[in-house]
Amino acid sequence: MRAAIIKQHGPPESISFEDRPTPTPAENQYLVRVKACGLNHLDTWVRRGVPGHKFPLPMVPGSDITGVIEKAGPGARRFKAGDRVIVDPGLSCDLCAMCQSGQHQLCASWGLLGETTDGGCQDYLCVKESQVHLLPQQLTFEQGACIPINYVTAWQMLVGKARVRPGETILVHGAGSGVTVASILIAKMHGLQIFVTSTSEEKLQRARLLGAHRVINTSKEPFRDAVKNLTGKQGVDVVVDHVGEPTFMDSIRALKRGGRLVSCGATAGAELKIDWKHVFFKNLALLGSTYGSRGDFHEVLRAFESNRLSVVLDSTVKLAELGRAHAALEERKVFGKIVVSLA
Ligand SMILES: [Zn+2]
Repeated sequence: MRAAIIKQHGPPESISFEDRPTPTPAENQYLVRVKACGLNHLDTWVRRGVPGHKFPLPMVPGSDITGVIEKAGPGARRFKAGDRVIVDPGLSCDLCAMCQSGQHQLCASWGLLGETTDGGCQDYLCVKESQVHLLPQQLTFEQGACIPINYVTAWQMLVGKARVRPGETILVHGAGSGVTVASILIAKMHGLQIFVTSTSEEKLQRARLLGAHRVINTSKEPFRDAVKNLTGKQGVDVVVDHVGEPTFMDSIRALKRGGRLVSCGATAGAELKIDWKHVFFKNLALLGSTYGSRGDFHEVLRAFESNRLSVVLDSTVKLAELGRAHAALEERKVFGKIVVSLA
């Protein structure tokens, strides 16, 4: 079978391809024939390397996997050969107090397919039965491969952490990124007033089509001033900030009293300077969030099954074009998701 491999950190051209033997499913595992694998910025970090963090290389990248059950290992009974499935990339022990209380993302041995063990940029992959779900019927494999990381991450941020309510206002940074697209659509589903920032007019127009009520071009006006004007100086109830250094302090200033800031990353730098007075005077909550629980995965799938959520697929590429796809992600030329099609 074909497999894309990151053997050492480097530029997109450093991704190599190998022919590997098809794996055999162990107890309570399934062998999945991968049909599509969605890319995330995480893939480019695994490839480039992150200072101070050690990825276990060599690694097959790719976390967002859909496919078909090829074969069941001993004891795996829920699915049969030929079932169309989507894989929860979250890995955990399933046995500790956190796992058993439904918070497997807090497990001490938590990890992700494509980051801590081999992912989906290969023809076949063995996964635990607890990670496998039926793919909602109305979705293609490529559409399904847009879902796991972005939608589960955004769901936990908005629903689990910020506890958004209908009629509230939300500011989401960085139109175009997969987690921003998911945040806009989940906010829309919950009846929020949505403000979105970007430096790209084109991305802002697309965010408007997705359901953003107001868009803010930060190359023309500081978002903090725009939010003040749009909310009659009150500020917003919730900010989703995965940018970090350049935006964080103004995101805090853009919150109304009792507001919540939620973050799943700091793509532009994580060394933050905070004027803590804003936090205690205004009774703010600063909420960190990584991925989501198995319960969040179920809720996201239910929202897709009932057509309350949709995906934004930027483009599909072949496995051999993975390096080019990484480059496009890094150049931020993407709106929504790039998906590797292995059909
Ligand atoms: Zn555990």
